Amino acid sequence: MTIFAKIIRKEVPAQILYEDDLALAFRDVQPVAPTHFLVIPKEPLVSLADATPAHAALLGHLMVVAAQVAAAEGLAATGYRVVTNAGADAGQSVFHLHLHVIGGRSLRWPPG
Ligand code: AMP
Repeated sequence: MTIFAKIIRKEVPAQILYEDDLALAFRDVQPVAPTHFLVIPKEPLVSLADATPAHAALLGHLMVVAAQVAAAEGLAATGYRVVTNAGADAGQSVFHLHLHVIGGRSLRWPPG
């Protein structure tokens, strides 16, 4: 079981920003910007690489949650980045799909 599965089950504490039947948003414990939160599905999908057409609505929902929580965090006017790391070359460290939502400062491109 991943650490995120334990957060979903409330076995590990997290600063939860949003929750519904399908998704959870919570602050990253090691923020890389003034605002950094994660949006995850409650379904244990490993990464975007495992997504199929059957996941289309769920993935769309995660994006909408990301936008709504970003707006609630005051990022809509200044902008923010949404990124997901899939697999080793991307640096994925928790193997439960998650969207990083990062903002509150000017972000460089391309990422590392
Ligand atoms: P990634 O490297 O894309 O797999 O990102 C995993 C993210 O999960 C990292 O930014 C970690 O800081 C974050 N993280 C790991 N454990 C926790 C936790 N218990 N609560 C919140 N964020 C976490």
